[in-house]
Amino acid sequence: MQNLQDNLIQAHQLQQNLSSVEHRIQQAVEAFHQPSPLLLAVSKTRTSQQIRELANLGVQHFGENYLQEALAKQADLTDLPITWHFIGPIQANKTRAIAENFDWAHSIDRLKIAERLNNQTHRSKRMNICLQINLDNEDTKSGIIPTDAIELARHVATMPNLILRGLMAIPAPRTNIAEQREGFHQLSMLMSKLKTAIPQCPWDTLSMGMSKDLEAAIAEGSTIVRVGTDLFGPRQ
Ligand SMILES: *Cc1c(COP(=O)(O)O)cnc(C)c1O
Repeated sequence: MQNLQDNLIQAHQLQQNLSSVEHRIQQAVEAFHQPSPLLLAVSKTRTSQQIRELANLGVQHFGENYLQEALAKQADLTDLPITWHFIGPIQANKTRAIAENFDWAHSIDRLKIAERLNNQTHRSKRMNICLQINLDNEDTKSGIIPTDAIELARHVATMPNLILRGLMAIPAPRTNIAEQREGFHQLSMLMSKLKTAIPQCPWDTLSMGMSKDLEAAIAEGSTIVRVGTDLFGPRQ
């Protein structure tokens, strides 16, 4: 009984959070005259039950960062029509499982990883890829620096089992929207350049914007916002 009640409270909270995030997205879309981005629910550290509840509210795209955790939840949720996105750093020994269990990978920043995914994708569907860009030139962060992106993109563009859809970034946190927009603007400009240089790829995806900066990202043309905290609550 207690469990059932907890679940109902949790489901109600998720519904409120989802409405509030959808409202923010809609407000930004209207304010900045931009198309509506896809809402990618970032479910790292969340339970299968929480994902199921959000999926029951109509969310279809979920993003995970840690492979083992993701595989366990995917096994619980095979009855749901979820599109899975891998958004965390990718180690070479994880590529096969990622290729087999995810439709998208947003965090490609090395040729070796792209090559392995290309060789290990044995499905009728090709894998959707975003290159992760390190906008802040921080040594410790994942992502390729903007000046090296074109060479990596040229290689990935030739890989038959991968579809190079666009770019992803996690800019360093900034509190005001003008500063937040600068990083996202850079990412959008970089994609325009790549589109001109490598016109055979779709280049239809800017994976940018999280709980704290989704408005700024939408202002700069985000097509996928990746939201965790503001949907599920604070992470432990
Ligand atoms: C955790 C994470 C998010 C979601 O961040 P929130 O601030 O919780 O919305 C988005 N993208 C990536 C790559 C993440 O690791």
